[in-house]
Amino acid sequence: MQKENNLKNIDVYSDSRSVLEALKSLQKKDTTIEIIKKLIQDCNIQINFHWIRAHIGHFGNELVDTWAKAATEREEVDHIEAFSKYQVNNIFTARILKDWQDRWNTDNRGKTIYEIFPKVNFKRLRSNFLNHIITGHGAIPVFQNKRFGKSDLCLCKQIGTTEHIIGYCPLLENLRCGKEDILRSKTRKDLVLDYYTSRLLTNIMEYYFRLYMNSNFY
Ligand SMILES: [Zn+2]
Repeated sequence: MQKENNLKNIDVYSDSRSVLEALKSLQKKDTTIEIIKKLIQDCNIQINFHWIRAHIGHFGNELVDTWAKAATEREEVDHIEAFSKYQVNNIFTARILKDWQDRWNTDNRGKTIYEIFPKVNFKRLRSNFLNHIITGHGAIPVFQNKRFGKSDLCLCKQIGTTEHIIGYCPLLENLRCGKEDILRSKTRKDLVLDYYTSRLLTNIMEYYFRLYMNSNFY
């Protein structure tokens, strides 16, 4: 508190004589009082306690009185405890995921990908190349042609559709690891949701993207 506000002196007003006397007392009795005394010592600020008469219209006193009454009427007591670094990390991660999921659910962009991956996941953050396959955008030549008027031909001179890149382009043969049949017959959604074929597709698209970027077509 002192570091944040550069405070040196604080005046605390209370209508409870017993509490004020207990705080001044050198005798150790109530644990709560001892905790408060320890906090006061540790924060290294001069704190002056003053007694004021209750219920005579001191604004601050009336306010805390209202809060205190409201607190006693609640069914549950706030349980505040120190969290470990691990717990804090978990709490914030859960909150970030929830916010992200809410945005992903309501945003109109990325709906093609949303249909396949409705749940957000940190592990997918680096799957941009898979997104090129799902949406047919990115370095897919027919998309480049439609969007930017570039050639629709693949680097191998055949029409550069997504299907061509996934299952047919001879330049990418080695990256298919002999799984042409599967890559040609399964739906794009099935390929993307399967761990093994999604890895193949990512490698294929990443490699093709690099070829494409380094070519004269781009
Ligand atoms: Zn090709």
